[in-house]
Amino acid sequence: MKRQLIIAIDGPSGVGKSTLSRRLAQRLQYVNIDTGAMYRSVALAARRAGIALDDPKALERLCMDLDIRFVRNNGAEKVLLDGEDVSEAIRTPEISLLSSKVSAQPVVRSAMVRLQRQMGENGGVVLEGRDIGTVVFPAAEVKFFLAATARERGRRRYLELREKGLDVDLERTIAEVETRDAADCGRQHAPLRQAEDAVLIDTTRLNIDQVLERMLRVVAERQSRQSQNLKEDRVS
Ligand code: C5P
Repeated sequence: MKRQLIIAIDGPSGVGKSTLSRRLAQRLQYVNIDTGAMYRSVALAARRAGIALDDPKALERLCMDLDIRFVRNNGAEKVLLDGEDVSEAIRTPEISLLSSKVSAQPVVRSAMVRLQRQMGENGGVVLEGRDIGTVVFPAAEVKFFLAATARERGRRRYLELREKGLDVDLERTIAEVETRDAADCGRQHAPLRQAEDAVLIDTTRLNIDQVLERMLRVVAERQSRQSQNLKEDRVS
């Protein structure tokens, strides 16, 4: 039997992590964990509760009480925050920027990392975020780091938001992607960086299917290497 792996996908905003993570998990019949949605949910809850983002005590209390879950509903993945479907509410440009700010708070990071480890410890999971291969699961069997130019990532996000009917501006969306990049790469705690053993894929000129095929090839290689190792262990 194929062993259930932990697969980490990291990279900057708008690089295609969410779509690829979801598609990869579907193909492998693994559970998909969108860790960005968790930081977004904290940002939404903090804003609703009127909590200042530089108040660690209040943020810590908030994180302790939050119930964040991922559910599948008629094939669609939903994020539930204290039982409420917030899948759309956490995707606005305002919450994107706020989530970058709350995620820089160590109290928020340690609460989320603990949850993510509980969700993924048994394997059979694809986790996507910024620090999965470096902090959350440094021993993950498969790690990907996705990259693309800020312009291309801004363009993708712009099209995605437009499709949802939001009134957005292209240059402004690109600027927002750059602002979040600077915040995510420059922060003191768990900044975005490529793990040394991650497979780097530049998606600027690749479509989703092409990236997915590359990822599936890497996963298949790791799985066969693992079963080879298992056989050798049994023989020796
Ligand atoms: O991936 P997504 O854009 O939904 O993430 C929202 C924000 O959450 C990011 O800008 C980043 O600041 C933060 N994040 C993080 N660590 C993760 C996932 C997301 O800091 N593992």
